[in-house]
Amino acid sequence: MAISWRFDGDDRLCGVGGHWTEFALANNGGACVPPPIGDGLADFVSGADLCVVWRAIFRLSRGRGERPLVLGYRCDAPAERRLMKATVTSTAHGGIEIVSAAERSQARTPLPLLDPDAGDRGSEMLRMCGWCARVQVGDWVDIEEGCRRLGLLERGRTPLPAITHGVCGDCLDSLTRDLDVDRRHLTR
Ligand SMILES: [Zn+2]
Repeated sequence: MAISWRFDGDDRLCGVGGHWTEFALANNGGACVPPPIGDGLADFVSGADLCVVWRAIFRLSRGRGERPLVLGYRCDAPAERRLMKATVTSTAHGGIEIVSAAERSQARTPLPLLDPDAGDRGSEMLRMCGWCARVQVGDWVDIEEGCRRLGLLERGRTPLPAITHGVCGDCLDSLTRDLDVDRRHLTR
């Protein structure tokens, strides 16, 4: 199921395509239906560091002419590990188009943490990398391992922590290396 986003030269969302609505509703993105046309990247991307990374991706893409930039990232559903492939292409007038589709997926026992209907969220925050979907439980670990350590594999442990998005050290290292992200703009 491919979805696409289109941004104008000021990094504002100006269109979506593919199975946008279906994907958003199936992936805890109900707030994005209808799509927030006109919103800037900062309104759209959760987490200041992720926003810095996406701005760098846009900048790089605009400098590449019509040669697309292909990036891999994780975007899981509660019952599915999913590796996504995003193709970022610059379009006319400084616009950007992102087409994203699942490249590989693997079923798993549903994780209540990722299920918006699994229970109340408490004041505790759990940081998740917006790129590799690992969570910070002391160190950065796979989400299943993080849920195991926190006793969140079973339904019924409420309240669940709220998820806050960031970028883990490993992803930051590779993204700053590959994408020329200016680390001074990051929150850490
Ligand atoms: Zn990461």
